[in-house]
Amino acid sequence: MNIQQNVALKTFNTLGVNAFAEYMTQVSSIDALKEVIEYASDSNLPIKVLGGGSNVVLANEVSGLVLQYTNDSLEMLSEDEEYVLVRVGAGLNWHEWVMSSLSKGWFGLQNLAYIPGLVGAAPVQNIGAYGVEVKSVIRLVRGVMLDTGEEFELSNEACQFAYRESIFKHELNEKVLITSVDFRLSKTPQVDVSYAPLDQMAKEQGMPTPLTLANWVIEVRKSKLPSPDILPNAGSFFKNPVITFQQFDRLSEQFDHVPSYPQKEGVKVPAGWLIDQMGFKGKSFGPVSVHKQQALVLINEGGSGEDVLAAAQQIKQAVFDRYGIAIEQEPRIFQ
Ligand SMILES: Cc1cc2nc3c(=O)[nH]c(=O)nc-3n(C[C@H](O)[C@H](O)[C@H](O)COP(=O)(O)OP(=O)(O)OC[C@H]3O[C@@H](n4cnc5c(N)ncnc54)[C@H](O)[C@@H]3O)c2cc1C
Repeated sequence: MNIQQNVALKTFNTLGVNAFAEYMTQVSSIDALKEVIEYASDSNLPIKVLGGGSNVVLANEVSGLVLQYTNDSLEMLSEDEEYVLVRVGAGLNWHEWVMSSLSKGWFGLQNLAYIPGLVGAAPVQNIGAYGVEVKSVIRLVRGVMLDTGEEFELSNEACQFAYRESIFKHELNEKVLITSVDFRLSKTPQVDVSYAPLDQMAKEQGMPTPLTLANWVIEVRKSKLPSPDILPNAGSFFKNPVITFQQFDRLSEQFDHVPSYPQKEGVKVPAGWLIDQMGFKGKSFGPVSVHKQQALVLINEGGSGEDVLAAAQQIKQAVFDRYGIAIEQEPRIFQ
């Protein structure tokens, strides 16, 4: 067991927050994981599970033991004429997994190309992009309980997936480490170009293969989202709120052409559009600013986690004061 003290986390989070972990360790097997869990329990250290750090806001001092699971194994569980069932280690880089699945002729992940982070975090917020959510291909999530070291497995249904939601953000919040995810992927090429920019490209260039579609997604993402290596950020900082039909009618009286996505329980409105209407693109809140082209992205230029959260709070309050709509932040807070 190699547990280090006072570890700099600047390179472990895409917001580039210069935080320190009281203790940190990386392990790659379930046995090593269980040893660490026992040690943390004996030493009274709370465990904080960190993946690629692309969806977290870190406080200056992260107390307890930061634990990163690095197992990046790939195991074929079963295969028939139509589908493969593959178990992927939680430590594999998400984008690498997407591209390697396509190169093997396994389809279903192409719309989710180029999302930062590791495989283990994908079920946590049911990552989604360009009309597809990862819940559509997850069959099973396996992991270890952080209090007892006991192993568990959860079916797709038991994960309670919803828009940017799962059981791992609620009942099991901070209680588990996901060690692997089972994906069921199709061997038949299939593409979903329902997202408008992809549909446009399909009209201009013809229906893509899954690999071409992944490359289109990468192209669109690069043109729309700033790279964290150049402008430190955590992707979309706010979730798109689902507002009531009455709230939507009031909004439509004030603005022409409110972008909207009807849902069963109300209307989903892009948080970025709400923020943009207030003229916040490019606006600075100390060292943190709203990205000039994408109002949903906060850029951190040398600020602390507290600076990021203070900026987010001011934006949430301004949205609430202006529209009476509460928006929630997407990244999790580590302190
Ligand atoms: C430029 C950019 C673009 C993005 N685009 C998208 C997008 O299109 N769609 C989207 O959904 N997200 C997007 N994100 C957000 C982010 O990439 C995803 O949420 C990703 O899944 C986070 O992975 P991570 O490994 O970095 O997790 P981290 O940020 O390290 O952790 C996120 C949360 O998951 C928990 N966690 C991580 N690993 C495990 C594990 N093995 N077991 C249990 N809990 C774990 C952590 O404790 C934390 O609470 C984007 C982020 C950036 C920076």
